[in-house]
This record gives sequence, structure tokens and C-alpha cells, in this order.
Amino acid sequence: METTEQEYVMSNTRILVVEDNRDNMTLITDILESLNYTVISAYDGQHGVLLAQSEMPNLILMDLSLPLKDGWTATREIKRDEKLKHIPIIALTAHAMSGDRERALDAGCDDYVSKPINVPDLLVKITTLLAAKK
Ligand code: MN
Repeated sequence: METTEQEYVMSNTRILVVEDNRDNMTLITDILESLNYTVISAYDGQHGVLLAQSEMPNLILMDLSLPLKDGWTATREIKRDEKLKHIPIIALTAHAMSGDRERALDAGCDDYVSKPINVPDLLVKITTLLAAKK
């Protein structure tokens, strides 16, 4: 059954979400879990890097403004790590008019989505990056 196979593939796809805003974390987690992705949560950048190293997720959603270690620094550390640099990172950017997006791409993020999050846009970017890594 195609549907079952697709659900199986997604349940084996682990997405690390690094986001300090609890409401955003809940929203993103609910959406991804409803699609059978497995979600790993980190609420600061330092924990985000540690979980990337220990869990080797298939993809990372990275907020930029984070406690302990900001998203740009966390992304640079992940992209400098030979074992982790293949993992696609999508930045979650808050300020459309600031330099956040450019700085995110400079830091090594593969793509970005603006907050408030446009869910269809986020899902397209996730599936596109996961498909590119297959
Ligand atoms: Mn934040």
C-alpha cells in the first residue's frame, strides 16, 4: 500500500526543531507529528547542537533568536562538523525586513521560512530538502 509505505518513511524521518517559543514549538510539533514525522525538540541553541550530534536528525528547523547560543552560531557549528554538515537546516526568521535571512544563508542554512509560519510553504521546503538528500 502506497499510503502505508509513505507513512512508514515519514515516521522514520526525524526532524530536530530548535525553538525557544513554546507556542511555536507546539504548533510545529503538532503539524509534523500529524504527518507522522518524528520530532526532537530543543529550546536553546546549545541543546540544539548537542541533539544534532547525538540524534543525527534528517533535517533541522532552526529559530535564530535563541537563548545560550543563537541560531546563526548553532548553524555554523553544525555545518562545520563533518558528520553533521549534510543535514539540511531551515531557518525560522522573525523579521522580514532585517538581515536575518541573508545572515541565515551566510551561516549555512539551506533555506528559511518567515514567521508567522506559512504551513504549506514550510512543508514544501521540508519535503524538497529531504528529497534532495535521498
Ligand atoms: Mn526565538
